[in-house]
Formats: sequence, C-alpha cells, structure tokens
Amino acid sequence: MTVNLLDFDLDALAAYCESLGEKRFRAVQLFRWIHQKGESDFDRMLDLAKSLRGKLAGVAEVRGLPLISEHRSADGTVKWLFDVGGGNAVETVYIPEDDRGTLCVSSQAGCAVGCRFCSTGHQGFSRNLSTGEIVAQLWFAEHRLRQPGGERVIDNVVMMGMGEPLQNYAALVPALKVMLDDHGYGLSRRRVTVSTSGMVAMIDRLREDCPVALAVSLHAPNDALRSALVPLNRKDGIDALLDACVRYLERAPRDFVTFEYCMLDGVNDSDAHARELVRLVKGHVPCKFNLIPFNPFPASGLKRSPRERVAAFARVLQDAGIVTTVRKTRGDDIDAACGQLAGEVQDRTRVHLRLVRAPLRAPAAAANP
Ligand code: SAH
Ligand code: SF4
Repeated sequence: MTVNLLDFDLDALAAYCESLGEKRFRAVQLFRWIHQKGESDFDRMLDLAKSLRGKLAGVAEVRGLPLISEHRSADGTVKWLFDVGGGNAVETVYIPEDDRGTLCVSSQAGCAVGCRFCSTGHQGFSRNLSTGEIVAQLWFAEHRLRQPGGERVIDNVVMMGMGEPLQNYAALVPALKVMLDDHGYGLSRRRVTVSTSGMVAMIDRLREDCPVALAVSLHAPNDALRSALVPLNRKDGIDALLDACVRYLERAPRDFVTFEYCMLDGVNDSDAHARELVRLVKGHVPCKFNLIPFNPFPASGLKRSPRERVAAFARVLQDAGIVTTVRKTRGDDIDAACGQLAGEVQDRTRVHLRLVRAPLRAPAAAANP
C-alpha cells in the first residue's frame, strides 16, 4: 500500500521527506499544494523539484475518501457520505452561515459510547478513522466548495460528526494540527472545536497536546440521569468532568466551555432540570449552553422537546446569567443530523436493541419537581 500523505501533519511530512533525502522546505511546499490548493497530482505541483516528484511517484499518494453520495439542502447545507471500507460509511456536513462556514467532521465509523439518543451510538462501533480519513473530509469539502481562485470556504471545524473524537486520540491530534497549521488550513484554535461526551483523562491530555475549543455533551444535571443517557458517565461522573473542564480552560483558546444539551421531551427538559444545571455550573465553570433539539429516529423511542419547552428551559439558564443558544435545525430535508444518513446505510450490530430495551427514567426528584 502506498503512503497516504493526508496522514501526515507538517512535522510528519517533513520527517517523511527527509527519509527520501529531501529538505524541510520541500515538505512545506508539498503540504501547501495538498492542503491549500487541493492538488493530488504530483505532476501538477509545478514548483516542486522534479527529483521529489520522481521519488513520490508510486510510493506516495494523496488519497481522499471514496464519495458515496452528496445531498444539498435548500438552506445551503451539504452532506456527504464517504465509504471507509468494510461496509462502513461516515458523514461530513457543511453548514453555511452569513459570515462563515462550518464543517462537521466525523472521527470514527460508529461509536462505542452508545448514548441513548444518538443514532451513531445505536449503530455500535466499527473502527477508528485514520488521521488521513479525518483530514480527507476537510480536504474534500474545502476544495469541492471553493470557487476557482476564490477565498477559503470553511473557517470553523467542529468534531461533531460520527464518533467520539477523544476515543480516537492518536489520529485526532495530528488531524487537528493539519487544520491549525498556517501552511495547511490555517484555522484559528478558537474555531476548531472538539466535542466530547466527557472523557476526563483525555480532556486533560488534549489540554497539554493541542488545546482547541472544547464542547462537552452534558445532557443532564445529575449523575443518575446522565449515566442513563451517556453510559461513560458511570466511570467518572459529572463532578470529575466539570473539574476537568475548569483545568482545560487554563490552556484553552476560549475562556468558556460549551455545554451541549440535547433536549428530550419529558426526560431532561424541565425547569427543575435547568435550575439544577445552574446550581451545578454557576460560579464554578465558565460556560455557555447550546440546547440541541433532539433529532428523532425511530429506534430511539424518544421525542423532541416542544419548542416552547426549549425556550422556557433556555430562559431559566439565561435568567441566571448563563449565555444560552438554541441550535437551529439545519438541513432537515437531507437528514443532516448526527449519524442519520450513515445509519440508513448500515446498522451493523444489534446495539440499538440493547439500548432501546434499557429502561430510561429520570430520577424522581428531577422529573417531578
Ligand atoms: N461524540 C461526541 C461528538 C459527536 S456527537 C459527543 O458526543 O460530543 C455531536 C453532538 O450531537 C453531541 O452533542 C451529541 O450529543 C449530539 N447528538 C447525538 N445524537 C443526537 C440526536 N439524535 N439529536 C440531537 N443531537 C444529537
Ligand atoms: Fe458517540 Fe457522541 Fe453519539 Fe454519544 S453522542 S454515541 S459519544 S457520537
């Protein structure tokens, strides 16, 4: 198998070029051709020394992911489904906004965390994506959408597609470095967001290795309910998670953590839950809340909270001085939500049966204030 140059951050590419007897500045040139110009054909990398082009031919390539489908929504959202082999697919979503474009990137085929409300979690875990497979999503989307000679299209990346990025740490960090590198995509650390279901030890590692913006999928104000929704909460618990968030902020490019909170009808969406959240974070974790309307899928057995409930919940947080936004549902007509389309391609395991059979009841105190 030839070496995939999308697998390398700049230091790794420099080391590879060095192994071919080439200097670092050649690696920088090559890296810029690949990521800034979207070029994959060495023969078209005109200012690259012929000797290097000759050495790369046959041993290295810029290998993107085979595209299965592209769906464009009326609101400009674009969703791609990529083949990652073995009957697995991952998805990438581009979300245009007035002043910027955001790309939602996948980190794994499936996910082992198995959150109760997540279509990806219901599919079970297939495998980690390589660095090259993570980077290929940005490489493809940026150059697919950019007009010839035009400006950069994607200035935000959120690791909020399929998978738990911190369970694929070794591949994630070099991919983040490619996104941040001025010779690569030149994205600001504030505009690259890792979203995690809350792996405490890995949040601490990311803080040391590559601090970018952090989003934590909280979804519940107490351990009993959170453990029912996000199984890995049984290991560390909310207190340890919040402490990790505080430590992370010492090194983070932003001075707040974003808490994502998926609004599930009758499960975690009462005013009492909101008040419990306020008590949890106020004066402890500098944060913003992003309330996500649940995107229903049949096997979940869950419902989206009514719009008025979401608004009332948001008001409780806002009245306590916590900045709270409600995520706009985008691309509904193309199912551009976490795991939806890939879920239609294949349901590899019977994990969803286990998940839907698991009882889900909010603790009495929280459910019946
Ligand atoms: N594994 C990471 C990142 C991928 S999921 C994480 O859990 O944070 C990205 C976001 O989508 C998470 O906040 C997740 O809770 C949310 N999500 C998952 N399934 C959803 C659904 N059916 N409707 C709405 N949001 C969902
Ligand atoms: Fe995995 Fe995130 Fe889905 Fe949970 S919400 S199952 S961590 S992808």
